[in-house]
Amino acid sequence: MEKFVYSFDEGSKEMKNLLGGKGANLAEMTKIGLPVPFGFTVTTEACNRYYEEGKQIGADIIEDIYIKLADLEKRTGKTFGSAANPLLVSVRSGAVFSMPGMMDTILNLGLNDETVIGLAELTQNPRFAYDSYRRFIQMFGDVVLEVHKAKFDAIFEAKKHEKGVHFDVELKTEDLQEIIVEYKKLVLQEMGHEFPQEPKDQLMEAIKAVFRSWNNDRAILYRQLNGIPSNLGTAVNVQSMVFGNMGDTSGTGVAFTRSPVNGEKKIFGEFLVNAQGEDVVAGIRTPQPIDEMAVAFPEVYVEFKRISELLEKHYTDMQDMEFTVERNQLFMLQTRNGKRTAAAAVKVAVDMEKEGLIDKMTAVTRLEPAQIDQLLHPKFDENELAKAVVLAKGLPASPGAASGKIFFTAADAVSAVANGEKAILVRKETSPEDLAGMVVAEGILTARGGMTSHAAVVARGMGKCCVSGCSEISVDEDTKIMAVGDKTFTEGDFLSLHGTMGVVYQGLVNTVAPALSGDFETIMEWADEIRTLKIRTNADNPRDAQQAVEFGAEGIGLCRTEHMFFEDERIPNVRRMIVADTEEERREALAVLLPYQKEDFKGIFEAMGQRPVTIRLLDPPLHEFLPHTEEEIKELAETINVPYEKLSRRVSELHEFNPMLGHRGCRLAITYPEIAEMQAEAIIMAAIELKKEKNMDVVPEIMIPLVGLANELSYVKKVVIQTIEKIFKREDTTVKYMVGTMIEIPRACVTADAIAKEAEFFSFGTNDLTQMTFGFSRDDTGNIIKEYRDKLIFEEDPFQTLDQVGVGQLIKMAVEKGKSVRPNIKLGICGEHGGDPKTIEFCHHAGLNYVSCSPFRVPIARLAAAQAVAKASKK
Ligand code: ADP
Ligand code: MG
Ligand code: MG
Repeated sequence: MEKFVYSFDEGSKEMKNLLGGKGANLAEMTKIGLPVPFGFTVTTEACNRYYEEGKQIGADIIEDIYIKLADLEKRTGKTFGSAANPLLVSVRSGAVFSMPGMMDTILNLGLNDETVIGLAELTQNPRFAYDSYRRFIQMFGDVVLEVHKAKFDAIFEAKKHEKGVHFDVELKTEDLQEIIVEYKKLVLQEMGHEFPQEPKDQLMEAIKAVFRSWNNDRAILYRQLNGIPSNLGTAVNVQSMVFGNMGDTSGTGVAFTRSPVNGEKKIFGEFLVNAQGEDVVAGIRTPQPIDEMAVAFPEVYVEFKRISELLEKHYTDMQDMEFTVERNQLFMLQTRNGKRTAAAAVKVAVDMEKEGLIDKMTAVTRLEPAQIDQLLHPKFDENELAKAVVLAKGLPASPGAASGKIFFTAADAVSAVANGEKAILVRKETSPEDLAGMVVAEGILTARGGMTSHAAVVARGMGKCCVSGCSEISVDEDTKIMAVGDKTFTEGDFLSLHGTMGVVYQGLVNTVAPALSGDFETIMEWADEIRTLKIRTNADNPRDAQQAVEFGAEGIGLCRTEHMFFEDERIPNVRRMIVADTEEERREALAVLLPYQKEDFKGIFEAMGQRPVTIRLLDPPLHEFLPHTEEEIKELAETINVPYEKLSRRVSELHEFNPMLGHRGCRLAITYPEIAEMQAEAIIMAAIELKKEKNMDVVPEIMIPLVGLANELSYVKKVVIQTIEKIFKREDTTVKYMVGTMIEIPRACVTADAIAKEAEFFSFGTNDLTQMTFGFSRDDTGNIIKEYRDKLIFEEDPFQTLDQVGVGQLIKMAVEKGKSVRPNIKLGICGEHGGDPKTIEFCHHAGLNYVSCSPFRVPIARLAAAQAVAKASKK
């Protein structure tokens, strides 16, 4: 028969899935002989059954609970519901992962009008007994009966006021008794029935409330945000009470074995004398620092230190502990691996390796890849932040902190920065034309656009602070005025942005540079020793390439050539090329672009210092480069000296209903081979010149995008090779190069063996591959995806974390088929997913050679790749 209830001496820390984190650790502490008040855990499976059976606890489970309760009575020598010597328990929720959205703990359960008298007599401490009872009614009323906590608080505060006292401890027994009478009245009023007096009813209601809380809104939201599956269920811990509110020789506290702020090896925590449960965190009185416990309870403190050292060794990780002292006796109530800042995580991991507590493989798993962001961006000075005035809230689009003068156009920002100002670019939303302004700005603020808007994506790519979708502000770019409520701001006014929180502050808040301590470097070196995946970067210019190399990139996995086309001197010629009627006209325009492209590639190759560089031939739909409004077309007609009518006709000819499925990718090179010729020439000439001028050996990897058929690839490849052969003859020299393709159309995955005959490498373009596999437009379905997540149809956004079940299968198929034809085919991934830790783990196991991500994600990817190895070695 399945077992749904475990005593604390029947479990262990390995049983988290069944007992939840709290229950498993209570069992473990019991097992290793620490002073833990005895109790039992109702399993997560019981919770799942509760839901399966229409929100009922099965009769067999109830029976099991009563058996364990009887056992608990025997062990404690107390009896549930007995006035003479009442057993009191706490009811504590405990999911597999600790979840702040879950139910609050109920303490002192088992008290009623009779047992409270027994408790008072037994302890000779009526004040304590009534304090416990009023706490119980309040917690049970709030959490189980769902009577608003504020209503209890109001009664409590009114009583304090009436008695002229400031703190709860100053209330006398009689005061507490009066409060209890009023609390019970409140419950009767709100519920239409008396406060439940029967302890067994209290217990069952409390257990059900914990199960219910698994599916409350807060818990659901928390699981969504943290990618926790919704079918895990929560366990319930029922534990005999110990009392920190028995007077001045009692107390309660929380502590970490090391500092969760900076990792320093020193007990860190707080405690409160004569207090119970959450009083420390709830801030009802100011708690004392843990060191002072050494003064108040010298012997207990020594014991506590011994236990905390023991726990850290036992778990080989920093512990976060909760404890209670009852009349000078210490009880441990919880331990778990402590949450910590990135800085603390780094220091603790490196220190513990040096102390011999963990090995390097474990050390690299102790830092959350996502946390690395915290170490790479400037931060606000905490003291200044506390004083700053919050102006508005938007989306935390890209982490970091930025302060500066506001400017409303890219050009204004650029010239301000040239004059030595710090600029914040404020726009309704951004577009590729704002790029120059975004590059120089400290931070970016937009009124519209979500987490995947242009501003957000580009800012994250650049590692630049950005608050997007800040709908509280209105921006008028023409008059250069920004308004928030009745406040207005004009060019040159100071604002500060908190990208990690999505908050806009008025005025200047000073920032501090990220401290890349030696420990951070150390742990990244360990990661490099361990990982087998190579890490490349997506970079389109020497500046990004340089940055990525500093962060440890080993090559470029994706260099998009179209970004170079947007720059000021070039865009007119790009447009001239696109609107050309004849091949000849097109070639003329391309000839102007050639030297620019060549110089771009030279700059990038140099910045990468002979590391491999994959360059993708022109990919986006042509219409992206074209003007759309009549005015813009007129303006362009003048600039490029083409009659307006002709231009306007070409623009409408080039119009596409579905451009992402239209004239783009290799289709451009097939319809206009001269574009591919120009780009191949620019790439190869860049390599040849660097060889001649700097004796550099660059091996360009030329990537042909959006291939779905082997024939497409062989056609374009032929164009590229013929061009290159001609150049070799003309220049009387050769360089090595490779030609490969981007795999981003499902058909390419399915026919990857045929394609691999032509391709020397595959790079999985998972943005398009996801888009086409799902048939979901990445640019248009943001809102749908949000609904899908809310309705639990998607556990995760497939554009952020690779859909392993669907898209991942296509990748695996392509890898297998590709290798069957060309065993050492080079394999990589270059979509946004390349910087996502879960996807990186997938890529490691799928047998890819590298992942490629934006420069600021390179350290994250290095760490995640090492963690993939570490995780696999543990299994
Ligand atoms: P959370 O998960 O919110 O931390 P806990 O279940 O850990 O909730 O309970 C909060 C606090 O309640 C504990 O830190 C402890 O101080 C107190 N508490 C819980 N169970 C007991 C108990 N059996 N005896 C005394 N105090 C308890
Ligand atoms: Mg709590
Ligand atoms: Mg706790």
